[in-house]
Amino acid sequence: TACLLWFRRDLRLTDNPALIAALERGTPVIPVYVHDPASEDPWAPGAASRSWLHHSLTALAEDLARRGSRLVVRSGPALQTLRALIGETSAGAVAWNRLHEPAIAARDARIEAALASDGIETSSHNAALWSEPGQIATGSGGPYRVFTPFWRALAARLPDAPVSPAPERIPGPRQWPAGIAVETLALRPSIAWDQGFYDPWQPGEAGAYRRLRRFLDEDLRGYGDARDRPADDGCSRLSPHLHFGEIGPRQVLQAVRRAQAGGDLPEHDAEHFLRELGWREFAHHLLHHFPQTPDQPLNAAFAAMPWRRDRDHAADLQAWQRGRTGIPIVDAGMRELWASGWMHNRVRMIVASLLTKNLLIPWQQGARWFWDTLVDADLASNTLGWQWVAGCGADAAPYFRIFNPVLQSQKFDAGGRYIRRWVPELAHLPDKAVHAPWTMRDAAPRDYPAPIVDLAASRQRALDAFARMREDG
Ligand code: FAD
Repeated sequence: TACLLWFRRDLRLTDNPALIAALERGTPVIPVYVHDPASEDPWAPGAASRSWLHHSLTALAEDLARRGSRLVVRSGPALQTLRALIGETSAGAVAWNRLHEPAIAARDARIEAALASDGIETSSHNAALWSEPGQIATGSGGPYRVFTPFWRALAARLPDAPVSPAPERIPGPRQWPAGIAVETLALRPSIAWDQGFYDPWQPGEAGAYRRLRRFLDEDLRGYGDARDRPADDGCSRLSPHLHFGEIGPRQVLQAVRRAQAGGDLPEHDAEHFLRELGWREFAHHLLHHFPQTPDQPLNAAFAAMPWRRDRDHAADLQAWQRGRTGIPIVDAGMRELWASGWMHNRVRMIVASLLTKNLLIPWQQGARWFWDTLVDADLASNTLGWQWVAGCGADAAPYFRIFNPVLQSQKFDAGGRYIRRWVPELAHLPDKAVHAPWTMRDAAPRDYPAPIVDLAASRQRALDAFARMREDG
């Protein structure tokens, strides 16, 4: 009997353990994608992710067609849809790769049990992580809350099995079940605000490889420093490809190891890059052990934080979202996000700090905006990132360490190239004014807003709020 290969966020044919397991059965393989956003509620994919998904599914369908196969696309509740497909094809097995977000993991456990009770053979596999949640624990068996010891434990057990190549052919059934066109899922926005997303990127497995190759050939050397400069191509930009499983972390690891073996790559650049991938693993580990954290602070004391609830806070949130705070590095980041679906990591930290500290707006509101606008929006990494900046997460920066966005900008975008690119109103300003145009007095551009907060006064307000939280908590 045939095997359904249930694709989710593992949209690749290389090193795909569920695909390998399906092929090993020696029977026809029926690749399936089931669109079921309701089951991920309240974290169904946001608008930018859906746009990416459209392109990624299209690329996967083409890759499958080149191997004599197809992608059968359906829409509806996952269990019901899989059962219908089993009925139509007489499939005897379903294989998939595991996901770790709490709502999805719980849904999948229900599906696994239901299919088993139908007499269907099920198998699930790890394609997404070097080490799945639960595999790494502290000496006393609990979850790590601090990154460095987590990383030490993980680095000692990185996978070293060779990556398996994509199969040349995937045997299909004599008769294919009907599916719908990817287009029918209406994943793309009706107004094409995502037009600018795809200049730097090519969603899908081939694009992920191209990105990795380019990074290894051109940018891994020097990564340790360049990764903090948003105007440079210093980081890999692999995040959406990794999120959708167009490439897996094992493949990235093996490619880095090969580059290390084959050249005179500085050890610290490669190790630094792998460590960043370790943060991704840490994020999944934390979300698994603390499933409430997309909405609730990990550090419970922060439930008492006196966030701003005044009327003006909505206007400030909107100015932040639109890149009109009057603070150039923040506006550059927010506009990069809106126009390209991505933002540089250093700038993510700066914009998040301004929102949660200087503007004293709850981190959850920033996380929601990122969720809807990032093509790499990922529940684990987004939750970790926001809680880390807000000071309430695992291994978080101490609350009193408040980024000064002007100093950050002067340090990491010294020539102002990043600002000039995304905030063209400021392009003509001299280097020393581009980070803080309000210092220019007469020459400050008219079409650019004055800062919506005084950085020094709002810093003090944040420190006072934190002190109050500690007194009340
Ligand atoms: P590189 O520097 O090339 O790193 C390689 C890979 O390591 C990345 O692709 C990513 O998978 C992983 N990685 C790097 N840094 C982190 C990190 N701090 N946490 C977790 N994984 C990391 N990343 C997401 O993938 N999705 C998100 O929704 C997300 N939201 C964030 C929100 C905030 C407030 C902050 C501060 C960070 C967030 N990050 C998120 C982490 C980080 O900013 C991005 O992973 C990174 O910018 C992606 O660019 P890159 O692929 O070039 O990274």
